[in-house]
Amino acid sequence: MFRHVRLICFDLDETLWPCQPVIQAAEAECYAWLARFAPRLTARHSAQDLRDHRLALSRARPDIAHDLGELRLRSLTELLVAEGYEPDVAHRASAVFSAARNRVTPYAEVVEALQVLRRNYALIAVTNGNAQIKHTPLRDCFDHSLTAAEIGAAKPDPAMFHAASTRSGVPLDACLHVGDDPLRDIKPARRLGMSTVWVNRDDRAWPATLQPADLQVSAIDQLVRVLTAAR
Ligand SMILES: [Mg+2]
Repeated sequence: MFRHVRLICFDLDETLWPCQPVIQAAEAECYAWLARFAPRLTARHSAQDLRDHRLALSRARPDIAHDLGELRLRSLTELLVAEGYEPDVAHRASAVFSAARNRVTPYAEVVEALQVLRRNYALIAVTNGNAQIKHTPLRDCFDHSLTAAEIGAAKPDPAMFHAASTRSGVPLDACLHVGDDPLRDIKPARRLGMSTVWVNRDDRAWPATLQPADLQVSAIDQLVRVLTAAR
């Protein structure tokens, strides 16, 4: 089924590591930092208020909505300046968030599976999120990594898939995309003629209205077995 594949693109959040606990911890750490260094802000705004403000900004500014780091920085800057703080405080708070956001723990099988795949395939990370791969435990696992912030558009926009193909010098029809999100990962990749693998770790139902991925796995080592058998 996957004989023709030369490049494998991997989504990151919920595909190679759990994301929600990391975001929650990073937001808590950032809020605790703000309580210490910008107490007038936290006296007026709860952590949920900060999330709501950021969400409202992302709706008002679709031109930067794909860049979660920029959104966080601008949202914090607005709120902090309104309380009489310097914009620099927002930069420092964002740095606290980013450092914590990179403290991801890959699912148990991931590092070894990527090492095995890398012997036979080019590997590229393609993420809508704002983890910086070079500061995570997967820093040595990929040939390239692309983020929505760098590309200027988030999946399902095809730009990141085109960029992955161009950066690697592998045509889209020789690319396989692996991701957890039916609408942001599988649907656009399939439309571009890529092969697709849906990572479904928690036994979710596939959306009835979408054409299924070429393969469904519950972990990346399953994908390794299928690809090894295909060679
Ligand atoms: Mg994901």
